[in-house]
Amino acid sequence: MALDMRGLTFRESLHTRFVLGLGAVLLPFLVAMGIGYAYLLPALVSPLDNIVRVFAEQQAPAMQLQTALLQAAMPVNDYLINGQEDEQELFARLRQKVDRAFQAVQQAHSTPDDVHLELTSAREQWGLALRLGEKILRVPDPIGNADAAQEMKRFDAHIDQAVTSLEEVQYHFRQVIDASRAQAIRTRMATLWASFAVFGAAIAVSLFAALALARSVTNPVDVLQRGVKQLAAGKLSHRIDFQRHDELGELAAAFNAMASALEKNQAELTELATLDGLTGLYNHRTFYVLLRGELARAQRFNRPVSLLLLDIDHFKSVNDTYGHQAGDAVLKDLGALLGREAREIDRICRYGGEEITIILPETDIDAAAGIAERLRASVQAHTFAAGNGASLHLTVSIGAASWPLHASNIQGLVSEADAAMYAAKQAGRNRVVRYDPALDAQAP
Ligand code: GH3
Ligand code: MG
Ligand code: MG
Repeated sequence: MALDMRGLTFRESLHTRFVLGLGAVLLPFLVAMGIGYAYLLPALVSPLDNIVRVFAEQQAPAMQLQTALLQAAMPVNDYLINGQEDEQELFARLRQKVDRAFQAVQQAHSTPDDVHLELTSAREQWGLALRLGEKILRVPDPIGNADAAQEMKRFDAHIDQAVTSLEEVQYHFRQVIDASRAQAIRTRMATLWASFAVFGAAIAVSLFAALALARSVTNPVDVLQRGVKQLAAGKLSHRIDFQRHDELGELAAAFNAMASALEKNQAELTELATLDGLTGLYNHRTFYVLLRGELARAQRFNRPVSLLLLDIDHFKSVNDTYGHQAGDAVLKDLGALLGREAREIDRICRYGGEEITIILPETDIDAAAGIAERLRASVQAHTFAAGNGASLHLTVSIGAASWPLHASNIQGLVSEADAAMYAAKQAGRNRVVRYDPALDAQAP
């Protein structure tokens, strides 16, 4: 991931991955808080808000009006008891207060029809009470006045009716408030569950993001760890095949480069340890490893295996005549010739000096002698380059021995092939001799 956003370049790295990953872990909580703030909180507050509003705008003015009505009745009653004229002044002030309170109640909006009727009735009763109150306050001798007392009863009855009508108004507002309270309780439960759901979802998404983040780091680390274990166990061909462009990707690339270098070095070391440096044939040590394997296999499956031991005739004179380097070139050429002429399954080894062994799996002595004869004839027919434009011809003597016909073990098979080769030399060279127990008597 290498984003280029208006000049800002984000290279993929563990740092970026962690920053983005932790952002993804925190984001659901921010979203949950946003939902809480935008939807849940208002849903919770709105019924309470309604209670406060209904109370402040409608119920409180109605209560104040009730109080004002009862207060306005006081100076009228007091005037009949004490006859003081300042009660008239007090009543005038209080009636203004009542009028203002009526105005306040009527200004409160959203008043339904039935409330409106009760308010009108209260106002009518107040109007009747007002006229009676003014009349009573004008009575010159109020104390003990029986007519005035009668009027007073009617005055109080009107005030009572007005107060009763306002009780109805208040009752209505109390119902609105109760409905809002019930709504608030329901909303509180709904909001509680909604909060659980929103935060539960946030926790789930956040956990998922956290797991994804952890896996995006631990998975490649596991792969790397397995790779290191494979390498430590000697499996140098193991490679890590994930394509990432962060530090772990770089680590994997470094691991692969290291494994390739180790594998190449090991291949070179193996070649050095198993092949002969001059001819490229298997060396003496490998010859024994291969022969041991082939013999074990032959014994297990009860199949024949044969061994040829080949020695160049009069090779010393090649060195003497053309020099040692020419002798080396001839040995190399001979190795290549045998490689071409032998079968795919045959194993050609430089036993030592100018002696070459050829392991022939699945081959009995007759077939082995046939192959040996073919090789001998090829060598005889081949023209070897001796350097400086000179060429020469060579012959070889080959001894052949077989398991299980002749030998019972590796050493026996090698010494019998050697005895046969010696016999070939003795018989005049440039020939193939099969091992025969009678040859042992002629051995040097
Ligand atoms: P024959 O086997 O027919 O009896 O005669 P020969 O001359 O081959 O005798 P022998 O096997 O005793 O001598 C082997 C010679 O091969 C001796 C040595 O000079 C030569 N030789 C062995 N290894 C090498 C090598 O790596 N390079 C070269 N140039 N010559 C080698
Ligand atoms: Mg020799
Ligand atoms: Mg020789």
